[in-house]
Amino acid sequence: MPDVLVLVDHDGERVHKSTYELLTVARRLGDPAAVVVGTPGTAARLREPLARHGATTVHAAESTEADEFLATPAVEALELAVREVSPAAVLVSATTDGNEVAGRLAARLDGGLLTDAVDVDSSGVATQVVFGGSYTVRAQVTHGLPVIALRPGSCEPEERPVEAGERELALPPVDRAASARITARRAALAGDRPELTEATVVVSGGRGVAGADGFKVVEQLADALGGAVGASRAAVDAGYYPHQYQVGQTGKSVSPQLYIALGISGAIQHLAGMQTSKTIVAVNKDPEAPILDVADYAVVGDLFAVAPRLIQEVAVR
Ligand code: FAD
Repeated sequence: MPDVLVLVDHDGERVHKSTYELLTVARRLGDPAAVVVGTPGTAARLREPLARHGATTVHAAESTEADEFLATPAVEALELAVREVSPAAVLVSATTDGNEVAGRLAARLDGGLLTDAVDVDSSGVATQVVFGGSYTVRAQVTHGLPVIALRPGSCEPEERPVEAGERELALPPVDRAASARITARRAALAGDRPELTEATVVVSGGRGVAGADGFKVVEQLADALGGAVGASRAAVDAGYYPHQYQVGQTGKSVSPQLYIALGISGAIQHLAGMQTSKTIVAVNKDPEAPILDVADYAVVGDLFAVAPRLIQEVAVR
């Protein structure tokens, strides 16, 4: 079986759930091989959970400057690994960073890029979300190496313990003049909440929340359900909530088990980032709001009356 390279998303200590999803999908195409880009010692820390999820090889691309730069170290590492193992495909998470890495890698290797995939079958045909989520298409790379960016939350990750081999990839020094540098990392707003793209429950607030204070009820409902908080662009633009929590075409794509939209109208650009959620609940006081058309459960009412009752209901269970 050919290798299928998976770029590992991690925070230095912990592998993100989206990587386990990539490993699960990679198994359909060949032997999953994980590529860890980080500072020295990172791959050793992450090896056990990667092997538990089926990574037959862990490629360690480590250097002291690996986490100082945006896409460059990951692109270099994947290019080295591709040249070493001639994989059947490369899979990355379709996050902001992942999309950039995927695009650059495909361009460098003259490969074929499939973005916003939500499924890949065993013959390499990907189901992609296109036109802001209006359609899905099935597409396959017919020239060069397939580089596929898979949306987080597209599949249930499966454990498949294996003995993982180890390989080192010698990262070249980063070309500092030509590479974007990370100058600051945003602190998480609430340390205990799950990462937006990884959460099984997301509670999002829109302009209907009517202010930064109004977001407290969104946070309380998210916390009651052990979920993450999201926001519409209108809420972000109005300064109610920080940009890194924006869901949609120009924000993050999420696909949780449960997505609750509070005071969000359901513009196409918002739907683009959340309509693959398994169950959608919308609370909106306008019975004509488009979000109600995609919702599995719709409550027509004032979010400030409905959300506290939901919180109470969850608390007694
Ligand atoms: P509104 O459309 O103003 O809706 C507010 C809703 O709240 C209304 O339906 C109202 O009935 C309801 N409401 C008000 N008060 C209450 C209450 N007390 N209780 C219950 N309901 C209440 N948007 C995104 O979200 N993400 C994106 O990534 C994104 N990218 C974009 C990219 C481009 C190029 C463009 C042009 C637009 C983009 N937008 C995006 C903006 C998008 O078009 C909408 O303007 C935005 O999604 C609207 O946000 P909203 O639903 O919060 O606000």
